[in-house]
Amino acid sequence: MGNIVAIVGRPNVGKSTLFNRLTQTRHAIVSDEAGTTRDRQYGKSEWTGREFSVIDTGGWVVNSDDIFEEEIRKQVTLATEEADVILFLVDVRNGLTDLDEAVANILRRTKKPVILVANKADTNEWIYSAAEFYALGLGDPYCISAATGSGTGELLDLIVSKFPKTTDDETDENIPRFAVVGRPNAGKSSLINAFIGEERNIVTDIAGTTRDSIYTRYTKFGFDFYLVDTAGIRRKNKVTEDLEYYSVMRSIRAIENSDVCILMLDAERGIEAQDLNIFQLIQRNNKSLVVVVNKWDLVENKTTVVMNEYEYAIRHRMAPFDDFPIIFASALTKQRIFKVLETAKEVYQNRKKRVATAKLNEEMLPLIEAYPPPSIKGKYIKIKYCMQLPDTQIPSFVFYANLPQYVKEPYRRFLENKIRERWDFSGTPINIFIRQK
Ligand code: GDP
Ligand code: GDP
Repeated sequence: MGNIVAIVGRPNVGKSTLFNRLTQTRHAIVSDEAGTTRDRQYGKSEWTGREFSVIDTGGWVVNSDDIFEEEIRKQVTLATEEADVILFLVDVRNGLTDLDEAVANILRRTKKPVILVANKADTNEWIYSAAEFYALGLGDPYCISAATGSGTGELLDLIVSKFPKTTDDETDENIPRFAVVGRPNAGKSSLINAFIGEERNIVTDIAGTTRDSIYTRYTKFGFDFYLVDTAGIRRKNKVTEDLEYYSVMRSIRAIENSDVCILMLDAERGIEAQDLNIFQLIQRNNKSLVVVVNKWDLVENKTTVVMNEYEYAIRHRMAPFDDFPIIFASALTKQRIFKVLETAKEVYQNRKKRVATAKLNEEMLPLIEAYPPPSIKGKYIKIKYCMQLPDTQIPSFVFYANLPQYVKEPYRRFLENKIRERWDFSGTPINIFIRQK
């Protein structure tokens, strides 16, 4: 289960520096999304074999004096709702400030683990001055230097030790876990209602009073599935939801804990930056995808041409990954709701698909022979054998070559495309590995 760590604190205490430090090793491994603009706010980290997400709430701060404190207050509140562990950063060089007090007031009320981190303690003298932060009533300040990295290893140990035990959310491995995600007002709650009907106990709770289960199991329209984090999606706070931060925070948890994400787009609004950010979150977590163009009832000109234009625009914006189903639906009139569930189920099956080794080689080797990887520095690259790896999170294929380091990305893409042409992996990311034979 994906754990989420949120870094909160007033501006300039070093949140983004710490964020970079916590996520950098992971970034070195996951290089495919280099240059995406969201890197500052959301990243993956791993420590002693536990993978988790890190969110820098400061990445979203709206820099206007008036709403500044109010803004931080809202962000901290949401972080306490959505994160598993909260890192509250203060600055030993600057000392205790009113804003620190304001943040601490909110954090003292949460039941979630809060770690008070005194940053910029680059040398020992600074460690002594951290004592003043005891006054915040959040226990021992934990001294680090995000800039030099000192203390961050022990901090990571501490973070990992505070993750909730996972036993209460165990699910049946053979039943798909669907998450309905999308920007505010795309129609997520409406779709969920269309799937499962109005529930007896819609969660209208005060934040933090109940620990909602992440999974709810349903058998509807002949499908057996879990919906992930329905309560979190239904628990609404319309006043603040237009801010991107809120929709991202609400999505992360659901995405991380799902197999297939049903990404809702609003037909009237087309595809915008916020939709793309959620799409990126889905990709970075290696989740499978069904895109629903919702509110199709509002589109007057429902011709095939218009549909094709929509489809093209969506695939174009989400490229290079474009092998996913798109369904035009209406959560309101329930048009194609069954189709959405059916497709999500198919995508889940694609995610679990296994191609027999003999069949894979029989189809792929002649292609590779006809279009071998380009030779580099006069060296010929030979691929003699391939197989799908067992027990992987997403379908993963390994091609054994004499000189794997010379097989470049375009050729990998070629192999992926050929696999996708031959077997239905629609909606699902796949891995292509080239290894030494
Ligand atoms: P944020 O606004 O909370 O995200 O803060 P930043 O990460 O942008 O850091 C604010 C400033 O503090 C930058 O100039 C950083 O270089 C500096 N800074 C961050 N961490 C440390 C640290 O551990 N020691 C020192 N001396 N400076 C730091
Ligand atoms: P959420 O914020 O993503 O959960 O979106 P909601 O389900 O609350 O829907 C936002 C608004 O869009 C509500 O007023 C819905 O009634 C409306 N809505 C949702 N789906 C549809 C649809 O398929 N067609 C139309 N016309 N309106 C819809």
